[in-house]
Order: sequence, then C-alpha cells, then structure tokens
Amino acid sequence: MRHKDFIIVGAGVSGLLTALALGKEGREVLVLERENYLGGMCRSYNVDGYQVDTGPHIMTRIAQGPLKILMDKYFDILPNFVPHGKYYVVLNNRVKPFPWNLRDWVSFDLIPQIDRLYLMKTLFSISYILNTGGDISKKSVGDVVGNNLSDSTIRFLNCMSYFMTGASMKKAPVERFIDAEHYRTKSKNLLDKIYHILMNEGAQDHAYPRGGLKSFITSILSSIPEKRVDIRTGEEVIKIHDNEKTIETTKNEYSYNTLIYSGFASDIPKLVDDKLSPEYVTSLSKLRNINTLTIWLGLNKKIFKRNGSEIWVDCDPHTWVVPVSNYDSSLAPKGKQLVGFAFRLPDKFNENKEKKRALDAIYEIKPEIEKNVDMIHHQILIPEKAVYSVDTVFADIKTPIDGIYLVGTDTERRSMGITRASYSVNRLLSYLREDGLL
Ligand SMILES: Cc1cc2nc3c(=O)[nH]c(=O)nc-3n(C[C@H](O)[C@H](O)[C@H](O)COP(=O)(O)OP(=O)(O)OC[C@H]3O[C@@H](n4cnc5c(N)ncnc54)[C@H](O)[C@@H]3O)c2cc1C
Repeated sequence: MRHKDFIIVGAGVSGLLTALALGKEGREVLVLERENYLGGMCRSYNVDGYQVDTGPHIMTRIAQGPLKILMDKYFDILPNFVPHGKYYVVLNNRVKPFPWNLRDWVSFDLIPQIDRLYLMKTLFSISYILNTGGDISKKSVGDVVGNNLSDSTIRFLNCMSYFMTGASMKKAPVERFIDAEHYRTKSKNLLDKIYHILMNEGAQDHAYPRGGLKSFITSILSSIPEKRVDIRTGEEVIKIHDNEKTIETTKNEYSYNTLIYSGFASDIPKLVDDKLSPEYVTSLSKLRNINTLTIWLGLNKKIFKRNGSEIWVDCDPHTWVVPVSNYDSSLAPKGKQLVGFAFRLPDKFNENKEKKRALDAIYEIKPEIEKNVDMIHHQILIPEKAVYSVDTVFADIKTPIDGIYLVGTDTERRSMGITRASYSVNRLLSYLREDGLL
C-alpha cells in the first residue's frame, strides 16, 4: 500500500489551491479526483467552436481578498484578469448600474423614491451596527426591510438575495447582502466611515480571467511543484478507514497521515468507518445547496455591447447575464458572441420544463436574441456546497475525526464561489500550522 503524508480528496479549486500551498511548503501530496478532468465546478470546455465555462464566472476580491493572499504567496504564473466593469440592473424595462453606495441610491430610480429613502435609512443603520462591532449574521434581508415596499422593490431585493446568497430575501443574511467587506472600513475616524458608506464604489476588484476558467486552473497547475504533488484523475475515494488512516479508491489503497476532503461535507458519514456522534452527523445533514441552470448562447452578432454583466430582475425566472466573449473574443468564433445566462432552479424541478421556461424568458426580455442564436448549451450545476442562509450551520474545517480536515464552500460563510473556497483554504492552512503539520 502506498503512503502519502497528505492526501487531498477532490481536484476542484479548493483541492488544487490546497495542493499548491502544501507542495510549495515542501510537503508530499497526493490528489485524487473521481472525474476524468480537473477543476470541478471551475473549468472550461468547447462546444461547437465556443469555449464555455461551468456557469458564468466573475472572480471577486482579487485585489485584496483571500485569493490574492494565495496568489502572492504560491503562484508562479498569475492569471491575466480583465476588469469586470459594472453590474447593470434591468428592472421595469430600464437599465441602471447597481447602486453600491448612498449617492448611487439617490439616483437609482428603477424603484420608487419612497422605497429608496427607506432602504437608505436601513442601509445606514446596518452599516453603523457593522462598524461598531454589532452582529447581524442572524438577520435576514426580509427581517430588516419590513412589509411596506412596492412589488418591484421586493422583486429587486429577492433577485439580489438569490444572486448573492442562493436564498430568498426571507432567508438571505443581511450581512452578506450588504457585503460587510465593502461597507466596513478600518479607519477609526467617524467622517472617514461616513464618507466610505456614502461614496465608495463597490465591486472594483471583480474580474474575468482571460482565456476563461481553464486559464485560471492552468495558472494553479503550472505553479504546483510536480515532484511533490501527484494528481490522479478518474479515481474516486470510496471508503476512508479513519482508524487505520487508510483509504480505498476505485483503483488503489493508500495510507495517509493527514487527509483533506474537498467533496460535500454531508457525504463524510457515509465515507468513514468511525461511528460519528449523532450531533455531528445531524449538523452535516443540515447543509443545503441549490441547483443552477446555465444557458450558454452563441450569437451570430454582438448583441450585448457594454462591458460588465446584467441582472435581469424583470425576467421570470430572474437571471444573471454575462457576455463572456466581451472579456476575451477568442471564446467565440470570429464575429460571434458568447453569453451565459444563470438561473436558480427550484428545489424540485423538471429539467426540460425549466430549460424551456428559462429560454422563453430570455427571448421575451430581448426578442432580438431569438433570431440570432447560433449555439445553445445547457448546464445544471451546484455552485456552492452550501447556500448561505440565516439558518445555515457551515461544517467545521477541523473534524472530530483524527487526521481529517475539510475544505471548500460548505466550510466558510464569507463571500461566494472561488473567493469563498479561497477563504476556506487560507483557514485550513492556519489550522494545519497551529496543529504543527505545516
Ligand atoms: C452557474 C455557476 C456560476 C458560478 N459563478 C461564480 C462566480 O461568478 N464567481 C465565483 O467565484 N464562483 C462562481 N461559481 C462557484 C465556483 O465555481 C465554485 O464554488 C468553486 O469552483 C467550488 O470549488 P470547490 O473546489 O470547493 O468544489 P468543487 O468544484 O465541487 O470540487 C470538488 C471536487 O471533488 C471531487 N470529489 C468529490 N468527492 C470525491 C471523492 N469521493 N473522490 C474523488 N473526488 C471527489 C469532485 O468531483 C470535484 O471535482 C459558480 C458556479 C456555478 C455552477
């Protein structure tokens, strides 16, 4: 039986970033991935001459967030980021940039003035609570906005809640909704704090990696020290004998000192031998996730002209529209445009019905699209392993099982997607350091 100091289960972003960090820190690592490809929810492939990603992706907090820490420390080759531009809101047949600060709220006339005044007041008091160290993590957007808003404002808030957290406004934590990182300032000066809330532009460090998600994964892979990190695909971990510190895969058996698991934390009780405490099993069973439908459309001409993405509140179901070939024209054949439309799916759904409903909704909002479709490709995927709602209890990175740690989007509540995965990797590395393993 082969032995490895560290075994990482899963070669998505969380697993690969962990493998990179451990390899660069001089550790011997084996990564096991059940699929025949790397990247998990973060990869690209070709469809009829277009290069699609696993859902439209914009990478966030790249200038000073958790991924930046990992890139600075461990990447030999940095991804080539193209600035995202603005997030445009389409509501009541009109378009405006998303209002990040109070100044923008004043002119955000897609929703009634009375509602804006009320929301500004709410935003101000929440920012005050955040800046004075208060806890709002258990309050939902629905809790703080009350019942007196117009239908279109409620539609806007619900759409933004789904977009930012995967949950409706009744369940979406207000802390996530107003993006604590954006509204919180390190300055102790009260005037600075007020200026920050009033004027600061949000989402300035959001970007798309030129070359698609594939190029981001390639940056990680080409920085990984090959001699120390062995990555195997098409090999599923089917059993973890945690008492002996060995694992069985579909192809081999291995022993380990430390195992880092980046699949769904809720699968852990099925994988390990040990009898876990009922409290631990129950807490893992409470993790919830959602499915998304992405419709990729290849268009015969450039219909989406501006840089940035669009949030179609008017659309039923709501959708986030990202014309990715505006960031990198090589993703589409010459003269054509590639656009991703992401929809949240209901808990129970009929695949064909939802695909038709979503496509019809796109054509209804922009009829010009229907006449210009060159390629249609659908994906049904789970964006994060846990939706961040007010009642989500995330899994702990440190497990009660000797030698086993978790990493990934169900172990961290901050932000979403790749940024959330990166927060989790940074925290895992600190635990490994604390435990004398790094
Ligand atoms: C439609 C959509 C839009 C998105 N938009 C954005 C965005 O705009 N910005 C952003 O930052 N993020 C976005 N994301 C989310 C982001 O891609 C994911 O959150 C992130 O890639 C998750 O990485 P991960 O490594 O934690 O999990 P995963 O990618 O799920 O990786 C886990 C890996 O473990 C493997 N695995 C599991 N169990 C086993 C086993 N027993 N044995 C071997 N292998 C196993 C799986 O096959 C998988 O490859 C989006 C995702 C989707 C679907």
